[in-house]
Amino acid sequence: AELTIERTAETICPFCSVGCRVELGIAGNRAVIARGADGPANRGRLCVKGRFGFDYLAHPERLTVPLIRREDAPKNPELHLTGADVLTLFREATWDEALDRAAAGFLKVKEKHGSARLAVLGSAKSASEDAYVLQKLARTVLKTSHIDHCTRLCASIPPLTEAIGTWTVTLPFSHILEADVALVVGSNPEVNHPVAASFMKNAVRRGTKLILIDPYRQPFARHAAYHLQLRPATDVALLSAMTHVVIAEDLIDHAFVSQRLEGFDDLKARVSAYPPEVAARVCGVPEESIVGAARLFAKAPNAMCFWGMGASQHAHGSDNMRALIALALVTGQVGRRGAGMHPWRGQNNVQGSCDVGLLPMCLPGNRNISDAGERAFFERLWQTDIPGERGLTVVEILEAAAAGEMKGLYVSGGNPAMAAPDLAMTRRALASLEHLVVQDIFPTETAAFADVVLPAAALAERSGTVTNTDRFVQLVETAVPPPGAARPDWEITCEIATRMGARWNFDHVGAVFDEMVRAVPALAGMDWATITRERQLQYPLSADPSNGGSLFATVFPAIGGKARIAALTNGSPGELPDEQYPLILVTGRVREHWHTGSMTRRAKTLDALSPESLVHVSAADFARLDLNDRERVEVLTRRGSVRLPAVCDERLQSGVIWMAMSFFEAPANDLTTRHLDTLTRAPEYKFCAARLIRD
Ligand code: SF4
Repeated sequence: AELTIERTAETICPFCSVGCRVELGIAGNRAVIARGADGPANRGRLCVKGRFGFDYLAHPERLTVPLIRREDAPKNPELHLTGADVLTLFREATWDEALDRAAAGFLKVKEKHGSARLAVLGSAKSASEDAYVLQKLARTVLKTSHIDHCTRLCASIPPLTEAIGTWTVTLPFSHILEADVALVVGSNPEVNHPVAASFMKNAVRRGTKLILIDPYRQPFARHAAYHLQLRPATDVALLSAMTHVVIAEDLIDHAFVSQRLEGFDDLKARVSAYPPEVAARVCGVPEESIVGAARLFAKAPNAMCFWGMGASQHAHGSDNMRALIALALVTGQVGRRGAGMHPWRGQNNVQGSCDVGLLPMCLPGNRNISDAGERAFFERLWQTDIPGERGLTVVEILEAAAAGEMKGLYVSGGNPAMAAPDLAMTRRALASLEHLVVQDIFPTETAAFADVVLPAAALAERSGTVTNTDRFVQLVETAVPPPGAARPDWEITCEIATRMGARWNFDHVGAVFDEMVRAVPALAGMDWATITRERQLQYPLSADPSNGGSLFATVFPAIGGKARIAALTNGSPGELPDEQYPLILVTGRVREHWHTGSMTRRAKTLDALSPESLVHVSAADFARLDLNDRERVEVLTRRGSVRLPAVCDERLQSGVIWMAMSFFEAPANDLTTRHLDTLTRAPEYKFCAARLIRD
């Protein structure tokens, strides 16, 4: 039957950090169509996820009532359940009963084992207000610093903070339209940030030269002046060789280096070990391409750098990013329109979640938790003492649980039972907890281990704010009502806090926003009345509007106002191929699905477009193993095995296989390793040793 659109309402796409504004067409309180609205980032554009990814809102598996685990439903770490199968483990409860049970469980763990045995995992796809009250609950009520969220698993920011003292991009991605050169490292924007990629392609068409550094010959490479198809995990050598060329040919920005940079002499000594002919052998990239790309980047009047998880998700991901940042700094490619650094965020509210302190080492506003003065500010604001030690990160929290050292966990919006590495360990960890509360919109793989499940409203069903990759704080409003008894995350968290003795006065989401502004200096000048009127505000509001969102023309936020080149090592992956496991497994995403698939696998069109997990095998290996198209194979690593069809992918290098992370039926993270980067504590999703056999 033909549907009549009764009204339209705007929301923000809940998937990637581009933060596209979406107009939903609504019939009978149900979103039935999505169109691109005129947001500051998308200007009317949407990708396939934004256009066809909204019908999860009305999926029959939405959580609509609170649930309590049945007494005859043991937590079995051997079982991998999702959706309707998870629901069989629970009985329905009233909000009062479920909230009382959730709060009492945390109080019991606190009394029996102490606050240090409690942890909280949030999500970068929740609104900033949700993240703010969640970290406030952790610090002021649970009294733990063990609070983190899924941004940890991407972690493209800490080396930028280390270098220039901020964790925001120095300029919006749209400045590529004003850049002469764009250097993209470890990112597949057509798949992961498609609307941003459309602006990048516009820029290339008008003359911007693209340098792509990626082991995969992704289709986006067709736009590149140089595609440096390096061997996996050889980024440090390649980027150091480019810097070597810049210094050897005196292409550095002398004024920038002498006035705004520290650490140049150490860098010069370090990169002397990487002449391009040496790096060419290490990386498998022609020497002349390394030299040509370095010259192109350094000589450009204005050049931008982008990097993604292909750079960061390594045991030495920080060093990859440090090597890239060093190249940008010595060439002075920062601080102008069209010149700067833009590390991609993954989810739609990575920036907002970090800004409000959903992290174990930072209080809201990127304030150091170890600093007594910073803590004193929050103790005055929150009228209670807060713990001063750094907490554990995502994988460390799970490892502590598996070791019996973590006893209680509150998971709001995240899905570690699909997203974390080494899922056998993760499932053991979740099953071993004495008290697990999961708050989500679906009965996820993680909810299968919960004691209490609390039904949350989706982004389009509540109001609040999210902050995109360009530092735009964007308003979301209630477009459609939440299903059944589902409620906004921040409200549920406040209810738990109240039941644990807190006396907060958040009677409306705007009250949370206004307290957030007091806690986060970057938001200075905003308030709820203004954001509801303006709908989007780019911070800092004090920035010179003539720079179009580009920051740091004269001074960096780092102490002393200068940028600093960090020391780095050229480390190896945590696990190298060997006779038993001769292949390199790399994991990632497909364009149609978002992360663990909890929403996009429940969107009919997206699941029809990409219905199954496939292992991509290089043409050489496909022939050597004598495989047929879509033949079922078993992929094994030291952590586990999955069975799925294989396809030949001529874009992959010999010896490399690739899988997407979004498929419950063949979870890529059954295979991945827990090797963590020493600075970011991100897992090495982009490299582990694997074997592939016919099923
Ligand atoms: Fe825009 Fe990203 Fe959503 Fe696609 S997934 S519509 S690029 S916000």
